[in-house]
This record gives sequence, structure tokens and C-alpha cells, in this order.
Amino acid sequence: MSKSNMTYISSGKAKDIYETADGNLLFEFTDRVTAFDGKKKAEYHEKGEITCWLAEYWFSILEAEGIPTHYIDCPTPTSMLVRRLDIMPVEVIRRNYAAGSLLRRYDAGEIKLPEGVKPEEGAPIPRGMIEFTTKFEAVDRPVDTKEIMFNGWMSREEIEHVTDMTSRINTILSRELNDVGIILADFKVEYGRTSDGEILLADEVGTPDGCRFWDRTEFEDGIIRSLDKDVFRKGTGDLSTVYGELFKRLQMQEKM
Ligand code: C5P
Repeated sequence: MSKSNMTYISSGKAKDIYETADGNLLFEFTDRVTAFDGKKKAEYHEKGEITCWLAEYWFSILEAEGIPTHYIDCPTPTSMLVRRLDIMPVEVIRRNYAAGSLLRRYDAGEIKLPEGVKPEEGAPIPRGMIEFTTKFEAVDRPVDTKEIMFNGWMSREEIEHVTDMTSRINTILSRELNDVGIILADFKVEYGRTSDGEILLADEVGTPDGCRFWDRTEFEDGIIRSLDKDVFRKGTGDLSTVYGELFKRLQMQEKM
């Protein structure tokens, strides 16, 4: 798609963002991947195409199930048109299993785990957990609901609303992934407001850049095999191979 009549806005970790002539945004999904606040960087062939396809796949399913999102259309295999929103300065994380920064913060003595949750990767969190982190600070940090309200980032009603939407998204994604033998360990989502104040799911959803996906069969045998960005973070596998595997499983599911 020609970008000659668009205005370049910014580049994120994996996407370039443009404004279209009619005021929408165009996300260009690139092959870039970064971790550790941009300290580790690489490019993987076809990553942009796979993550764009996955984001479109999940937005379509979520919209059909009544979750309002900013998604409009994918004009090319690596680009997505979305409505321009006032993005909330808080990211929402849903956790079904212990992993990542949850365990790092526990090990550093910064947090307690929910009652009965073992401090080890793969421990189930029976009722799940919602956490919030900052979005527009140099380094994302966890924030509690008091600070969110104190800073005017979200009202109490908005916090309840995004918590409820995130739980519904979790139910839908977990169900669909279960059908292709994948556990949704955790994920991050972002929300924004329209000019009318409606809250829509924003950014991207259900991509391996923003979720932890584990192979279910191996998990049941006591092995965590990641089908997500953890292979890049930890250097335990080839990102193209695992993103490709995830893509193929969901693509086959879509055709059925
Ligand atoms: O690192 P942490 O364990 O807090 O990540 C929880 C989930 O949120 C993971 O699925 C991770 O990929 C995602 N995440 C993200 N962007 C961030 C931080 C976390 O997509 N800036």
C-alpha cells in the first residue's frame, strides 16, 4: 500500500505507524524484534507477515464475540488500518500461570504471589491475575489501581471495565488456543478511548510478541516449550520456527 499520502508518526518495537489522509492509523508490521527494553534486537524473515495475520485473526474473532476493537482492515499482508484512539497510559497484563516478571519481582522480594501459587515457572494461578504497567514511561513499571486513579490515567469505572474486557479476551483466546494444543500462560493488552469516550481494544492482540504460549502436550509432560518471544528473550530457539509453528496451527484451525 502506498504511503505517499500518509504521514509517518513513529516506530515502536515491531511496528511503524502512519496516519492516513482520513485520520486513521496504518500499522506496518515489520520483521523487527526487541527485548529487554530494546537492548536485544534482531530481524526475522516473515515475522511482520505472521504477526499481522495473527493480530487480524484475533481481532476478527474478538469483534465477532462482542469485544469492541480499533481494527478496520488489513490492506496488505503486513499492514493494518485501525481507528485512531486516545491510548490509555496503562497496559493491562492477564496471567494464568506464573512466569516472567512476576517471578522476577517475587524473587526480588517486591511482591507476594496469590495464595497457593508456587513460585515457579508454569505454576497455575487458579483464579488468574490482572496487573497494570505504565506505558509512556522510559521503562514500563507495575502500577496499582490507586496510582492509576491518582494520576487520572483511568477512573475506577474504567479500571473495572478494562479488567472485565481483559478477562473476556482471556476466555476467548484460551478457548481457541486450547483447540490447537496451546496454553495461554499470560498476555498484555492496551486500550484507548474514541472521541465519544468508548473504550476499544487497541494495539495488537494474541501475537507471540505480547503473549506467552506453551505447547499443551509437552506442558502435561512437565516441559515448558514456548511458542512466543521468550525463545528470543532467553535465546532458546529460533523465533521464525516457533512463530511459524503457531501460525500454521491457527491457520489450519481457521480453514476447518
Ligand atoms: O514480562 P512479563 O512477565 O511482565 O510479561 C507478561 C506478558 O506481557 C508476556 O506475555 C509479555 O510478552 C507481555 N508484555 C508485552 N509488552 C510489555 C511487557 C509485557 O507484550 N511491554
